[in-house]
Amino acid sequence: MNGLEAGACMGLDPAGGRAAKTVFIDPGHGGLDPGVVGMAGGRQVLEKDVTLAVATRLASLLRADGYRVVLSRTADSSVAKLSTSDSVAGAMTGSAVHRDLVARTLCANAAAASVLVSIHFDAFDDPSVGGTETFYDPVRPFAADNKRLANDLQAAVVVALGTSDRGVWTDEQLSAPTLTAAGGQYGHLIELGPAAAGWVDSPSQMPGALIEPMFLTNSAEARVASQPAGQQKVAVALRAGLQKFFSGA
Ligand SMILES: [Zn+2]
Repeated sequence: MNGLEAGACMGLDPAGGRAAKTVFIDPGHGGLDPGVVGMAGGRQVLEKDVTLAVATRLASLLRADGYRVVLSRTADSSVAKLSTSDSVAGAMTGSAVHRDLVARTLCANAAAASVLVSIHFDAFDDPSVGGTETFYDPVRPFAADNKRLANDLQAAVVVALGTSDRGVWTDEQLSAPTLTAAGGQYGHLIELGPAAAGWVDSPSQMPGALIEPMFLTNSAEARVASQPAGQQKVAVALRAGLQKFFSGA
């Protein structure tokens, strides 16, 4: 694929033997886009760092299980290559964020992945709020699989982390992350949603879900999310959720 940052859209072969399936893992944000900024033990916890750490760990687990993995990014960068006009005062413009999300979607399609898992962490004004939630798109032809994937990932993470179960939601129920007027009108997550001319010309072609395992605005959860042991726990849980999904149970 053209127009990508170094280390973006990287395919990783399974540890041994031939791959049965390809899993696309998308660590949210990156580069100029830190995502949520939380605090733990007096230090900042950036969503972009935590998503990459969890995604990298999940990739290792899945490769050991015989899956091929494609990561949307493997470094602290965007996926789409940015130019100077793509940022204002050090922050990505709305159109750059849009292009970055489209690039992630195109990468998943180019990988012919069986499944798309986007990893994010949550935020809320009230720091006492915590827990796990997962989003899927309900209007795709494979919406039933989207929902099953979302349920499997959500259940696995809630069990493993002991977080409060905030439930599984459709991406139409997302209120906050409308990047622009066009994004608000679209009413879906770019990586999960249907085609919309000029906005999402090539929608993702496989079941997908976006999971937010914890809130980085909750200091207890931010502490877990910032530590290698906590990141490994999330990765192991996501692997269990994927195993359940692939088993079709
Ligand atoms: Zn995010």
